[in-house]
Amino acid sequence: MTPSLPAELAPPNVRGLSPYVPGKPIDDLARELGLTDIVKLASNENPLGASPAARAALAEADVDLALYPDGSAHALRGALAAHCGCAPDMITMGNGSNDVLELIAQAFLGPGREAVFSEHAFAVYPIVTQATGATARVVPALGPQSDMPFGNDLEAMAEAVGEETSVVFLANPNNPTGTWVLEAPLLAFLESVPPSVLVVLDEAYTEYVTESGFPDGLRLLSRFPNLVVTRTFSKIHGLAGLRVGYGVSSPQIADLLNRVRQPFNVNSLALLAAQAALGDTTFVARSRDSNLAGLKQLKTGLSELGLSTIPSVANFITVDVSRPAGPVYEALLREGVIVRPVGNYGLPNHLRITVGTQAQNARVLAALKRVLDQPRP
Ligand SMILES: *Cc1c(COP(=O)(O)O)cnc(C)c1O
Repeated sequence: MTPSLPAELAPPNVRGLSPYVPGKPIDDLARELGLTDIVKLASNENPLGASPAARAALAEADVDLALYPDGSAHALRGALAAHCGCAPDMITMGNGSNDVLELIAQAFLGPGREAVFSEHAFAVYPIVTQATGATARVVPALGPQSDMPFGNDLEAMAEAVGEETSVVFLANPNNPTGTWVLEAPLLAFLESVPPSVLVVLDEAYTEYVTESGFPDGLRLLSRFPNLVVTRTFSKIHGLAGLRVGYGVSSPQIADLLNRVRQPFNVNSLALLAAQAALGDTTFVARSRDSNLAGLKQLKTGLSELGLSTIPSVANFITVDVSRPAGPVYEALLREGVIVRPVGNYGLPNHLRITVGTQAQNARVLAALKRVLDQPRP
């Protein structure tokens, strides 16, 4: 028997953390239920797969795996600088953009400090906040009757910023709701936040958005030196498995983030593939078009099932199944369909469905219809 460790081994903020719950892997469901034909629409992955240019770059890669990667990511940061219209010293590379979010917490949060974010915000914000010993100030979301049900209430968030606040996290569009903020209210919000408070604009899904009046965080950087924009190769570029993301900010903020960054946090193959994916504008456009069509298909199909959805401009849609969502999720698993329950986000009657291919969307809609038609136990 292993001897027990003292309960106080880790500080209370660490002991009190609830781990991030990922979408159920296909292999797990295959093993558990003996299913073979499974569709996973649970983690907002690209249903078209990875960027073909990235796949080709990996296939042809002549990388010496015995050598450490370029810790400065010189080539990729150069390509990103051209893509973003910014200087390379404004970019911080991350092992996924979650890594950048964590670097931000490490650099700017800690005991006695506060992070402000919305109810139903991305689960990584509370985790990275609490891990540093900082306090989360969670602002109630807009009500179900508002123009943007369950969305970020920017006015209330501005009011919640106080003496102890060091960081505000805001995802646009937000996950798991899909809701968004437009440029005018975002500008008003940024004007109202003191320059000593870092505002993190998480744009993981921005490439999917075609809505008019939707802001481009990169264009706001010159006006707001306290702004950090985070982006990722995990979503529209289809490289979630490689783990590459980045932050764009003032060089001063990037310098601070790079001090806490592990020197080789992005591996050699990921650097190579991400650079190829960045140039694969055909794939990005195809993914965006496919997503717009799929979002419409799901929205229409869910409404035909009599279900209401949260407005979304992302690559997923969150639906109110008007009953506890857990059993519906479980029944869908038995149909070979993996979606995401979002009870841990304060949405116990909702399921988040990633937009798939047309056939995958049709399958999830048919499975959901069968499940909801079954008499409830
Ligand atoms: C998916 C997602 C990310 C991206 O995570 P990676 O670490 O880059 O894979 C970041 N923020 C939000 C809100 C997301 O949903």
